[in-house]
Amino acid sequence: MGREHLIKPVLDHPYPTIQYGKGVFLYDEQGKAYLDASSGAVTAGIGHGVQDIIDAMMEQASKVSFVYRSQFTSEPAEKLAKKLSDLAPGGDYWSFFVNSGSEATETAMKIAIQHWQEKGRFGKNKVISRRMSYHGITMGALSMSGHVLRRRRFIPLLEDFPVVAPAYCYRCPLNAASCKLACADDLETAIKRIGAEHIAAFIAEPIVGAAGGAIVPPAGYFKKIKEICERYEILFIADEVMTGIARTGEMFGMQHEGVEPDLIALGKGLSAGYTPMAATLVKDHVMAPILQGSKSIMAGHTYSANPQSAAISLAVLDYVNKHQLAESARSMGAYLLDKLRLMAEGIEIIGDVRGRGLLLALEFVRNRDDKTMFPPAAGITSRIIDTAFQKGLLVYPAAGAVDGAGDAIIVAPPLVITEAEADQLVQLLEEAIREVADELS
Ligand code: PLP
Repeated sequence: MGREHLIKPVLDHPYPTIQYGKGVFLYDEQGKAYLDASSGAVTAGIGHGVQDIIDAMMEQASKVSFVYRSQFTSEPAEKLAKKLSDLAPGGDYWSFFVNSGSEATETAMKIAIQHWQEKGRFGKNKVISRRMSYHGITMGALSMSGHVLRRRRFIPLLEDFPVVAPAYCYRCPLNAASCKLACADDLETAIKRIGAEHIAAFIAEPIVGAAGGAIVPPAGYFKKIKEICERYEILFIADEVMTGIARTGEMFGMQHEGVEPDLIALGKGLSAGYTPMAATLVKDHVMAPILQGSKSIMAGHTYSANPQSAAISLAVLDYVNKHQLAESARSMGAYLLDKLRLMAEGIEIIGDVRGRGLLLALEFVRNRDDKTMFPPAAGITSRIIDTAFQKGLLVYPAAGAVDGAGDAIIVAPPLVITEAEADQLVQLLEEAIREVADELS
C-alpha cells in the first residue's frame, strides 16, 4: 500500500475495513464479526442495518435531501421538533438542529447567554460545569468539559468552566462519610465564589459518560441542583448527548430524576448513527425574551435542520417507540448489570460495576480494598479494549478522567441486544479482562 490520506485516530494503527453491519454485529472485509458492545461511541442505539431507517432515507432522498434553513423549512424538521417537545420532560421545548453533540452543547451555551442578553443582563456569560465531564470537542464545548486528557493541548485557549465537584460516589470528591449531597452544595459554593451575576448556566450530564464511565448521581442530586440553579437565576442545561433517546431506560436521562431542564443537548442516539444529527432543546420560558426581543438565535450551521437528517431521526424515534426500546434498555440493562457484577466477583482488578439501563461501565483498580488506581503508563484501559477487539468485542474507553488517571470502560450495546448476545458479550469481556489481569500478576 502507498502513502495514506485518511487521518485516523491513531495514525500508525492498522484499522480493519468495515464491510457491513446487522443488529448488534459489525463485519469487516475479512468476514470477522464484532459484537458492538459500545454502539460505536454509544451511538447506534437501534442496531445496525435497520431496514425501516434505510426505507425512510430513500423516501426522503427521492423528494429533497437539503434545503438551507434561512430559505425554507421542511415537514420532517417541523415534525421532529414537535415530537421531541412531546417526548421531553414536561414538554414545551423548541428545537434547534445541529450536526454533532459538541454543536448541541455549544449552541445551548450560546442560547443561554443570549437569553440573559435579551433581558439586559449582559454580565451573565459564563457556563459553569463539573470537573469530571465531557461536553464536546469544539472550543466552546471543550471549555465546558472537565476531561483532563482532551483539554490538555488547548488549555491556553479555553475558558476554565469546570469548577464544580462531580457526583462520583465510588470516589466521593468530598470524602463524605455519609451522603448529604455535598457535591450538589458545591454548585452553590462555586456560584457564590464566581457571582451569580456572571453565570448564565450550569451544564451537566445526567450520567457521566466518557469522563469516568456511567457515573450515576446519588438520589435527589439533580433535584437539588435544579433548585440551586433556580434560586440563583442560572439556567440548567442537561447534556443528554449520551443518555438521551432511551439509552438509560427512559427517553431522557433526566426523567429518572424528575427534573425539567431549561435546555437539553441531544446527539448520538437521536439518529442512532444513520446520519449526523443533534439538537438543542429550549424550554418556552428560555425562548420567551428572544421571541420578544431580537427574534433570532445567533447560531446555526449549513446543514442545520436539513430534511434528510430530520426524516432519518423521525424514523429512528418511531422505531424506538414501536419496539419499546426504553423498556428493553431497562430490562436488558438489569440483566447485563447482574451478569457483569457476577463476573466481577472473581476478577480482582474490577473495582466497580455501575450504570443505568444500557449505559454501564466497569472501573479497574490495582487494589480493590483501597481503590488504588493503575499508573496511566500501564495503559490498562487500552490493553483491555485492544484484547477485547482482537476477540471481536467492541467496548468504549472512559479512562484518564481523574486528573489524567483512572481506568474504566463503557459497555453500552444497541438497545435491541438479546439475552443470548448479552451472554456472549460477558463471556468475551471476561476472557479479555482475565487475559490482561493475568499479564499483570
Ligand atoms: N456530550 C456528551 C455527554 C458526549 O458523550 C459527547 C460525545 O461523546 C459529546 C457531548 C460530543 O458529541 P460529538 O462527539 O457528537 O460532538
